[in-house]
Amino acid sequence: MQALGTLSVFSPALHAEPVREPRVMKPRRAAPADAIRPTRAEVNLEALRHNLRVVKRQAGSAEVWAVLKADGYGHGAPAVARTLERAGADGFCVALLEEAVELREAGIRAPVLVMGGYYGGAYDEILANEIVPVVYDLAQIEGFARLVRSQDAPAPVNVHLNIDTGMSRLGVRPRELEAFATRLKDFPEVRVSGLMTHFASADARTTDEIREQMVHFEAATALLARHGVNPTVRHAANSAALLRGEACLDLVRPGIALFGVAPRVPDGDADGGGLPSSRPLASDLKAVMRVRTELVALRDVEAGDAVGYSALFRASRPSRIATIPMGYADGLSRHLTNRGHVLIRGRRAPIVGAVSMDMSMVDVTDIPGVTLRDEAVVLGGQEGPLGKDTISADELAAHGETIPWEVLCAISRRVPRFYREP
Ligand SMILES: *Cc1c(COP(=O)(O)O)cnc(C)c1O
Repeated sequence: MQALGTLSVFSPALHAEPVREPRVMKPRRAAPADAIRPTRAEVNLEALRHNLRVVKRQAGSAEVWAVLKADGYGHGAPAVARTLERAGADGFCVALLEEAVELREAGIRAPVLVMGGYYGGAYDEILANEIVPVVYDLAQIEGFARLVRSQDAPAPVNVHLNIDTGMSRLGVRPRELEAFATRLKDFPEVRVSGLMTHFASADARTTDEIREQMVHFEAATALLARHGVNPTVRHAANSAALLRGEACLDLVRPGIALFGVAPRVPDGDADGGGLPSSRPLASDLKAVMRVRTELVALRDVEAGDAVGYSALFRASRPSRIATIPMGYADGLSRHLTNRGHVLIRGRRAPIVGAVSMDMSMVDVTDIPGVTLRDEAVVLGGQEGPLGKDTISADELAAHGETIPWEVLCAISRRVPRFYREP
């Protein structure tokens, strides 16, 4: 690690941004010890390791850098990172600098890449934590170069350059790359050690969109090479591209696949009857998170009785209604109002009435033998006396008109995570 001071070494004339202490935010997540309520998320670490093995097999010779942004897709980034590092993940990618620092503080030694690219001038914090920044702007390159100069740091700072090949989000645009590459020569303190891009439609019906973006990426690579910029690694593939065996390059950046969700590809693709190469792989993945709670109240209602806010449900028959202590503030989408299900005794019970902030009601009329404290599974599998069933992140996403990524991230900080080694 390079020994680095703080930003105070800059003269004000050279450095316009205010000098400040490292200020990484660490919002606290509910810990198992806080779990008075029976609502909890169980994270299956063996399933996580299993998914890493599946992903590594598919990646072939490419390194696997696990994407753990947004607290490891809601699974708790420190525990997930420690598990994956021990199981052979080659590196980690996060969106925010504070997420990267959190991994370092959790003892992670593998490379950590910050993909978001917003550093607020905290360049010293990045180098001090040996974090690899993704850059797309000359101002960022200048920031690192200035830091190196002011500290006589011997080695150039390694950065990964993001190329916008069709996402229109972050990255140097191809038409600006020539000018960018020319200016890069003014900053020998910074070395472009990696080149990346990101796919907009890796889960589209065909792989045409991936291939088109790769054409731009190859052109960018060639242009940079003409300017003497030769990155050691190039990377592009997210879970969807990886599972299709596309664009694995030197390293892959899977996120959702590690958590057991295969991006769904619309049927009828032109790859030859439905992704023959990725389908078995996708079904190999195992869901990592299971969210469960328990019934805290039970009541019998008459036909015509209302349930929940705004009486969005009215019983059409004498019914048994159970209350679960989980609502939209926990990540159970309000879109599940009168639509979703939970698993009780191994069978589906419909959510009735409005999902409220902290609680929801389910109709257990057709589930014989229900008692208080029975387990209710909101996400994941359950085996009970009446059967065996699973509620997947895909199913919840379909009800909520969203995607499984959002379903996982939505499980909020007040739901404690319990790590399981089954
Ligand atoms: C989120 C993200 C990934 C991982 O995407 P998945 O679809 O979850 O595999 C990879 N690269 C970048 C730049 C991302 O933002």
